[in-house]
Amino acid sequence: MYFSKSFVPILKNNPTEAKIKSHQLMLRVGMIKQSSAGIYSWLPLGFKVMKKIEQIVREEQDRIGVQEILMPTIQSSEIWKESGRYDDYGEEMLRIKDRQDREMLYGPTNEELVTEIFRSSIKSYKSLPQLLYHIQWKFRDELRPRFGIMRCREFYMKDAYSFDINDDEALFSYNKFFLSYLRTFKRLNLSAIPMAADTGPIGGNLSHEFIILADTGESKIYTDKRIFNLNSSSTILEKSSLNNLRQQYEKFYSVTDEKFDQKEFDKIVPEEFRVNTKGIEVGHIFYFGDKYSKPMNAAVDFNGKKEFVKMGSYGIGVSRLVGAIIEAKYNDKDEIMKWPISVAPYHCSIIPMIKKNDTTNLEKSNKIFEYFKSKNIDAIIDDTEENISAKIRKFNLIGIPYQLILGNKTEGDLFEFKEINGETQKLSIEDAVSQILKAKSN
Ligand code: ATP
Ligand code: MG
Repeated sequence: MYFSKSFVPILKNNPTEAKIKSHQLMLRVGMIKQSSAGIYSWLPLGFKVMKKIEQIVREEQDRIGVQEILMPTIQSSEIWKESGRYDDYGEEMLRIKDRQDREMLYGPTNEELVTEIFRSSIKSYKSLPQLLYHIQWKFRDELRPRFGIMRCREFYMKDAYSFDINDDEALFSYNKFFLSYLRTFKRLNLSAIPMAADTGPIGGNLSHEFIILADTGESKIYTDKRIFNLNSSSTILEKSSLNNLRQQYEKFYSVTDEKFDQKEFDKIVPEEFRVNTKGIEVGHIFYFGDKYSKPMNAAVDFNGKKEFVKMGSYGIGVSRLVGAIIEAKYNDKDEIMKWPISVAPYHCSIIPMIKKNDTTNLEKSNKIFEYFKSKNIDAIIDDTEENISAKIRKFNLIGIPYQLILGNKTEGDLFEFKEINGETQKLSIEDAVSQILKAKSN
């Protein structure tokens, strides 16, 4: 891809309407464009990042055995009346009437719809557990949409739902998601801490929010430093080891403000480990038992007896994560954004110095591009006539993790190659490729 042909509408200055880094940057480098309050179009750079995040989320759901479905964005009010939430949900719900005067709505979440799907097909406990997820747009008419796609009205969410025969099995499902979330955020290069949370309007009795630390976050958090050292990836999908995993985290005091109790905090957490800061909620898991299955009559036959299924729901803010990653990774001091390679819009920018009527560097760039492609390295060539330092500044802003420069200092088969925030090295193409591939495989 040539930069001159890409749709990356970069602004000269930071947009003044944006208050936090991620919002500024996403507008500045043309990742998104606002279409109305809290509603955005996703332009190529932003869309690429979001799709990569989505794919990691998907792979980690598949890995614990959740089955992907796709439910519609528009739902009927009927099922929400059954659960009792049609009135409770209030003004955050966007209500629509169709031409037959039927009350419809744009789904803010899918507990009702998935319960309706479940109850119409699953009749026996022998088909349990059922774990289902989808990745779909949601709409919540937030009172104050702000911070760009971090708190907007239309957003992209992964939501999963579990159906089990009893509490014990349901907690097993809950713990699978707990593990899956730790793995997902790790692959996104984020340190997301599970924190005991209030169950809020969804109700129920067990809930964790996954929060990444950021000064611009909207959640107040109180935690114990030692929780950051826990490492989680190697656990197997088995009841007792998953229980142990969750307990390892729950050993440490870690809550958001609704659950915060100063006395408890001071008593439990030694002073030197106390962390009282702000964070961004990127995921949320709930266990709520028969809260929906009972009013909606979602039951299975268990040895001749009717049992309401026990349910949980599990959300990840896929679109919010794009902004959250910027908040976590942007380096204020050097004013450099570096995307984790797992979600970077491109892996490497190829930056040739281009002089009038001299196509040598551009031709070389084309060859390198093809070679990169054969190695599954996604690159973009800056074929514009800007000078090298302007080009580098541009790519520092966009955040593509590696830069290969073809300029004055190119000697024979050695190129200037650097990690966006690192030292310039002189490398052969093969060595540059192996550095990028190594980073990709980590
Ligand atoms: P919040 O407290 O931030 O409003 P929530 O508790 O209402 O979030 P959930 O219903 O648990 O959120 O939704 C799951 C995930 O969807 C959240 O963890 C968050 O990452 C994302 N999300 C929720 N509301 C928004 C929004 N208005 N804009 C973007 N992402 C959102
Ligand atoms: Mg909310």
